[in-house]
Amino acid sequence: MPITISDHAPILVSTEGKFKKPLQNFKFENWWLMKEDFQPCAKSAWQSTAHRPFYARTNHLAGTLKEWCRKKKPINQELNLLEEQIKNIQMKPMQEQNHKLEASLMNRYEENLTKLTEFYSQRAKKHWATKGDRNTSYFHNAVIKRRRKNQIVSITDTNNVTHFNPEKIAHVFVDYFKQNFQTNNADHGRPYLRTQPDAHQQDPTTSIPDKQEIWQILNEMRRNASPGPDGLNVAFYIAAWEWIGDDVTDLVMQQEGEPQPRVIADNTKALLKQIWKAKDIAPRVQTFAWRLIRKALPTGKRAGKYSKHIDKECSRCSAEEDEQHIFFTCPYARAAWFAKPWYIRMDNFISNSTSIITIILNLLSSDHPHASLTNIFTFMWCLWKVRNEKLF
Ligand SMILES: [Zn+2]
Repeated sequence: MPITISDHAPILVSTEGKFKKPLQNFKFENWWLMKEDFQPCAKSAWQSTAHRPFYARTNHLAGTLKEWCRKKKPINQELNLLEEQIKNIQMKPMQEQNHKLEASLMNRYEENLTKLTEFYSQRAKKHWATKGDRNTSYFHNAVIKRRRKNQIVSITDTNNVTHFNPEKIAHVFVDYFKQNFQTNNADHGRPYLRTQPDAHQQDPTTSIPDKQEIWQILNEMRRNASPGPDGLNVAFYIAAWEWIGDDVTDLVMQQEGEPQPRVIADNTKALLKQIWKAKDIAPRVQTFAWRLIRKALPTGKRAGKYSKHIDKECSRCSAEEDEQHIFFTCPYARAAWFAKPWYIRMDNFISNSTSIITIILNLLSSDHPHASLTNIFTFMWCLWKVRNEKLF
C-alpha cells in the first residue's frame, strides 16, 4: 500500500492462495554488448538457424546467450578480483611496483564498472542512472523496489475468479488481449495499417516500411524500453542490425501482408526525411509525426475496429473520428487553428484537400509566418495529447 505521511507503509496480507515465484524469462543484458566475444557468438548462433521461423531463431539465440553468459565471471566477482590485484601492486615498495600492469588493471576495472552501471541502469529505469553517481546503494534499492512494484501476485479474470499461480496469471493476460484483438473484420491481422489502399484513392501512406525506415524507427525507440516476448531489447537489435536487419525487415513484410511495390510518393518520402532530420523537433513529436503520416495513430475509427471497448466517435462532437477529424475538421480543432497565433480558417483551407498529407504540405508551402515543420507538427501533437487526456 502507498506510503503516505511517515515512511512506514501499511501492508495488506492475503491468506488466500499460494504465491509461487515465476520462472525468470530471458532478458537481454546491455552490458553483454561490451564483451568482445559477444558479436561473433551471437552472430554465429543467429546464422546457424537460417532455415527456421523467426521466433524459433530468437529462442535459439536466447538459449545460446544464456549459456554464453553462464560461462562469464559475474561482474562483481571480476571487480573484486581486479581490486585485489591492484591492491597487491600498490602495497609493494615504490620501486618494485609494476606501473604498466597497474595501469592495465585499472583500465579493466573501469571497464567492468561501466558494465555494472549498465547492468543497474537497465533495471532501475531511472534516467539519472546513466549520468549520476554510479553504483551506489541508492541504485540497488531503486532496482529492488521497482522489481517488487512490478510483480503481479494475483489477478481476477472476467469470470471473477482470482488466480495466484503465475502461469494462470499469464493466461488471463493473454486471453484478455486475444479477445480484444480478435475480430471478424476481414481487415484483421494488421492492427493499425490497412492491407489494401483505398480503392478510390491511391494513398501513398499505406505502403510497407522498408529496411531504412525500420532502422530509423528502431533508433527513435528507447534502448532500455521493456523488450517483447523474445527478451531482446532495442539496444540488442541496434547492435545486431548488421546481421539481423534483413531478417527483421522480412518479418515485418510478412506481418504486413504481401510485399507491395513501394508507392510512397516522393513528397511524402521527403516529408518523412525532413521530420527525422529536423533537430529542433522533440523526439516524441517526431515519432508522433511518423505514426500520423504512416497511418498508425490509434484514432477512434482505426482502433474501434479492433475493440468493442473503444469508441469510433469523437468524444467532443460524436462524429466519426479519423485523423482528418481530430486535427482539422472537428469544431475543437477548427477553433484551435482559428485562435492565436494561427488565425487560420480550416474549412476554407482544406476544402479541396483529400489527405492530411496534402493539408500539411499546403500549410508548409503557404506564406503563413508560423507554418514551419516544427510548429505544425508540435501543434498537432498538442491536439493529439489533449484528445488523449480528454479520453483517458
Ligand atoms: Zn469532433
